[in-house]
Amino acid sequence: MKNVVFALAVLIASPVAGFARQQPPAGQTAAPAQQAPRGDPKLTEVWEPVPKVITPGATDAAPPSDAIVLFDGSNLDQWVSVKDKSPAKWIVAGGVLTVDKKTGNIETKRSFRNYQLHLEWRIPSDITGQDQARGNSGVFLASTGTGDAGYELQILDSYDNKTYSNGQAASIYKQSIPLVNAARKPGEWQAYDVIWTAPVFTADGTVTSPAHVTVFHNGVLVQNNFELKGETLYIGQPVYKKYDTAPIKLQAHGDKSEPISFRNIWVRELQ
Ligand code: MG
Repeated sequence: MKNVVFALAVLIASPVAGFARQQPPAGQTAAPAQQAPRGDPKLTEVWEPVPKVITPGATDAAPPSDAIVLFDGSNLDQWVSVKDKSPAKWIVAGGVLTVDKKTGNIETKRSFRNYQLHLEWRIPSDITGQDQARGNSGVFLASTGTGDAGYELQILDSYDNKTYSNGQAASIYKQSIPLVNAARKPGEWQAYDVIWTAPVFTADGTVTSPAHVTVFHNGVLVQNNFELKGETLYIGQPVYKKYDTAPIKLQAHGDKSEPISFRNIWVRELQ
């Protein structure tokens, strides 16, 4: 055994093994030892398809060139009232959209399946109320009917406002508590960046793949590929209802607190 160890040591140290390093010329540092490459690196290179070139926004909040802009501050051309599909009547002023609670929920004219969504919202600095009656609104990631039918990502003042955890801002309402509370103060703009993967159904409405959602709140991961149990329900357990594509809906919640505002809303359709 002793002899074997000795022989190995001699072999490793020997220039004959082929790994001996040349002494660098005076004044130069030795290059790091390189391992001899094995096999052909080209075997693992993939050249097709080439990703489509798009132009990103000037900032990460600005719409990239392949986005559908849903609200750029100027008008509500992309939106209708949920109840009768007439033009949306919320208030647009100074580049900002403010909820008009008496006119009800609004939704996009277009329908979507899988997408990336960017949306900014602001609780007014003079907000009053508490619990669920303080700046309540919401984004329905798929609006599957009138009223509050669909899958709600909650909007609420959660800066300093106690409520049930699965009903605070950035919750998937009554289904998933956000990983952290990343809320900003009333009066400050906040952002949601959402990746929505729609549920898949068979012809008879059986779910073959549930909906999944990832949400960043003010750049912080708060929902990590959460698998939904079905549509949002105020009372009772969530249930799935077959749909293919659906509008995105914003909630005019009936509480008495001051209305919230939105800006810079865009979506990118995904395969
Ligand atoms: Mg809500």
